[in-house]
Amino acid sequence: MLYINGKWIQTENTFEVTNPATGETIETISLGGKEETIEAIARAKDAFKQWRKTTGNQRSNYLKKVVQLMNERSDMLAETITKENGKPLADAKSEVASAINYLDWYAEEAKRIYGDTLSPSHPDKHLMVIRQPVGVCAAITPWNFPLSMITRKIAPALAAGCTVVLKPALQTPLSAVKVFECFHEAELPEGVVNLLIGAADEIGSEMTSSPDVRKITFTGSTPIGKKLLRDSASTVKKASMELGGHAPLIVFEDADIDEAVQGVMQSKFKNSGQTCISTNRVYVAESIADEFGEKLAEKTSKLQVGNGLQDGINVGPLINENALKKVKEQVEDARDNNGKVLCGGKEADLNQDVNGHFYEPTVIQYANDQMRIATEETFGPVAPIFTFKDEDEVIERANHDSYGLAAYCFTQDLGRGLRMMQELDYGIVGINDSLPIVIQAPFGGVKESGMGKEGGKYGLEEYLEEKYVSLSTK
Ligand code: ADP
Repeated sequence: MLYINGKWIQTENTFEVTNPATGETIETISLGGKEETIEAIARAKDAFKQWRKTTGNQRSNYLKKVVQLMNERSDMLAETITKENGKPLADAKSEVASAINYLDWYAEEAKRIYGDTLSPSHPDKHLMVIRQPVGVCAAITPWNFPLSMITRKIAPALAAGCTVVLKPALQTPLSAVKVFECFHEAELPEGVVNLLIGAADEIGSEMTSSPDVRKITFTGSTPIGKKLLRDSASTVKKASMELGGHAPLIVFEDADIDEAVQGVMQSKFKNSGQTCISTNRVYVAESIADEFGEKLAEKTSKLQVGNGLQDGINVGPLINENALKKVKEQVEDARDNNGKVLCGGKEADLNQDVNGHFYEPTVIQYANDQMRIATEETFGPVAPIFTFKDEDEVIERANHDSYGLAAYCFTQDLGRGLRMMQELDYGIVGINDSLPIVIQAPFGGVKESGMGKEGGKYGLEEYLEEKYVSLSTK
């Protein structure tokens, strides 16, 4: 299903969306390609002429209608997420709440776009800075948060007065269809939002090469982000990139160990570790590493793995066969490099005759820097424990050569907490907090983890251009 210029479009070319917990087909959907992308961009460009002239209050009212419709359908939306992505239903419900929260927040922010007047250097001049929408935005979203990544981009874009063409991940297009049904029923003007589902490279290359697309906003892997940036260079687009991460979580000897264990559980096993801010490396002070490992393994081995639609499941499947293969290879490599598997360490055997991609939540003690897992993003439920001797050493090791999205540390020492805040080279730092993400805060990374921010007032700025005006009264 495609949605272009306010109409649903079916094509001959189709794709089967499958449930990663069972391998079963959930729905067969239409795909589009180059032709539909060109059409969608043209319609978004037309729609921008009027949409940019709407008031913040008008745009706010549209967004509020979408909020209302999504609230009414929240159970169905959560079920759709679980079916196509695999995450436990409770987590899918949190995602729906967060997706709605973005729309709700930017419905308010739409009314709060300000400019500046500057003191002139000449008595007859008036100097002003006004802020205007960037134009047509191309948004590309991943499968790990199939609903909230969409609204995190579309809500601020619409609030700012931009129009949008969206390409969701092919693994999880149904959440996108459901949110677009809400846009349709909220009677957003034709062409303001457009949905393209299909071959990523075909749609992506039209989006990046079109001079009519003025901004590209992407959440996904670093290699694809780099490609999109390169391809957008010829038309010099504005860009927001939320890319990969390799989050360290540091536990100092003065930390509350139980809290830190809980911190790893929350930041490692949610979404089966398939989150760009998931902990990838746990650094524990040498003196407490054995105790910490035992406690973490004890809790981890109690996690229930299975189909996210069933009650009591904590960890769902990985998204596909390749994701499972990567996790298996990293754990084998860790074993070959003298890592000790404290729990898990293998594909989960759920005694089912269907084809899910489950891996047991795993804790690896004695991790070291020779292991692939020390530098390569895992995107799976595996927690490797490294040890360290002192603060300077762990800062040096925690700062990654190329990634800089999220980092966490646990300590009871306030001075140390403040030093870590300064020294950790990451866009997001959680101190005694492994769940720092909130709507009002800027989400985004440094280095090859990306550029630009999403969330809060910062997220809106990404969709606005500053225009400087000098008016002479002479
Ligand atoms: P992952 O490996 O986790 O699936 P990707 O970066 O490949 O991460 O995918 C994130 C999003 O980027 C998805 O919507 C995917 O379809 C899209 N994508 C992948 N390759 C391209 C491409 N060449 N051009 C545009 N979008 C792409």
